[in-house]
Amino acid sequence: MTTALPNCIAGNFQPARTGETLDNVSSVTGGVLCTIPRSDARDVADAAEAAKAAREGEWARWSVGQRADLLDAVADIIESRLEEIAAIESRDTGKPFRLAATVDIPRAVANFRFFASAVRQHHDGFHEMADAINYTLRRPIGTVGLITPWNLPLYLLSWKTAPELAMGNTIVAKPSEITPMSATVLAEILHEVGLPPGVFNLVHGLGHEAGQAIVEHPDIGAISFTGGTSTGAIVGRTASERFKKVSLELGGKNATVVFDDCDVEKAVEGAVRAGFANQGQVCLCGSRVLVQEGIYDRFKAAFVERVSNMSVGDPADPDTSLGALISHGHREKVEAFVALAKEEGGTIETGGTRPQLGAPLDAGAFLRPTVISGLNTSSRTATEEIFGPVVTIHPFKDEADAVRIANCVEYGLAASVWTQNLGRAHRVSAALDVGMVWVNTWLMRDLRVPFGGVKASGVGREGGHHSLEFFSEPKNVCIKL
Ligand code: NAD
Repeated sequence: MTTALPNCIAGNFQPARTGETLDNVSSVTGGVLCTIPRSDARDVADAAEAAKAAREGEWARWSVGQRADLLDAVADIIESRLEEIAAIESRDTGKPFRLAATVDIPRAVANFRFFASAVRQHHDGFHEMADAINYTLRRPIGTVGLITPWNLPLYLLSWKTAPELAMGNTIVAKPSEITPMSATVLAEILHEVGLPPGVFNLVHGLGHEAGQAIVEHPDIGAISFTGGTSTGAIVGRTASERFKKVSLELGGKNATVVFDDCDVEKAVEGAVRAGFANQGQVCLCGSRVLVQEGIYDRFKAAFVERVSNMSVGDPADPDTSLGALISHGHREKVEAFVALAKEEGGTIETGGTRPQLGAPLDAGAFLRPTVISGLNTSSRTATEEIFGPVVTIHPFKDEADAVRIANCVEYGLAASVWTQNLGRAHRVSAALDVGMVWVNTWLMRDLRVPFGGVKASGVGREGGHHSLEFFSEPKNVCIKL
């Protein structure tokens, strides 16, 4: 029998008011993994009401220390169930189990531990005048809506939930309808550690139904959204019309910029990881590789060879580098970009086709990792977000040319720069129109640093004190002496 995942509202695990469900289909086998409630505005209203009641109840009296201890307890449970939760995440997303067990779930543990520690140490301003003092109180916003995508389900939900609870808010969360499973596990764990009912409410369902209702609800005071840029535009517009605080973490078309003075072996390895981690479905993936012309042929040959040797297949197999894409529909979108690349004059250096994996995996949404050369840097394939295992590679002349190409897209999330010239590393990092630059590495994360993008990649920053500040309101008190 197919499992029916419930919503979690006011501490009750329950179906949607409509009684309707949606199938959650495996992208690995094509079978139905579970169903989720097809929630609508009525379920969101119930969740918002429960969240409001909870913020007026015992939760309002919890000290910072109690909230931090609760986050640590959540981290301990996730860590103790790491393999089991990683298996759930891998089944739900199609990503390799090894990736979920070494990145996604450990990162969820780290998010809870980090924000437990951060909030214990957080302090606010005090400003003295000749005849007065000012001090700044920091208060919860109230209820916050958390809307998350499918590529890193628990990783991103925990990235928002931990600081949000740390600052004493209540939550209405909606995970992606195509990866709902680990959010339900999190709701159960929060229940188990004794979070008061109604503090964390989980509403499953479609974006334009449940998601939209969260953004519109008058009692939800802020929205933290991670997802696509076009959805972000709708969320941003709806939230700002209602004067809600909003954080938008959106799409990317990130450049991996390789200079001829780099350590080529390390740069190839870094560019492969940046291009194809999680089947290229990470907002930070380096989907455009820009290589200085003197080493272009050598780099391209080594890069293509490494990519063509990556293993695609069963996500449960520890030797698998790439699992299935998130859905069959998404694979079609990615394949349409490969076809477009050919029309735009590109050469498929490797990949672009479906692997033959045998039953039952032949029913899955697998695609070989793909490298495309010969495209104009302003072509659609080289400038639009594909969000799959497809990387375009382009030569450039000098620093100015590299920066011009890197900046010629509408996105501005991240970049990696590969060079052994320190001055160049600083100059290029400063000139790139992005929120985050890595030099001689990729996706090395310190949870204290600002995370977010510019241009169509988003508005605002999360991470460290940026998250604690986003999920709270400062209030200044000035006392005349
Ligand atoms: P998406 O925008 O389709 O969906 C994201 C979430 O928004 C889902 O939960 C969805 O149900 C919900 N949603 C859809 N329409 C809505 C509406 N009208 N109102 C409210 N909620 C709505 O994105 P996706 O396809 O799930 O995820 C992939 C995208 O996410 C990519 O563009 C990727 O770059 C981006 N992403 C960005 C970051 C980042 O930190 N910048 C991280 C991960 C993913």
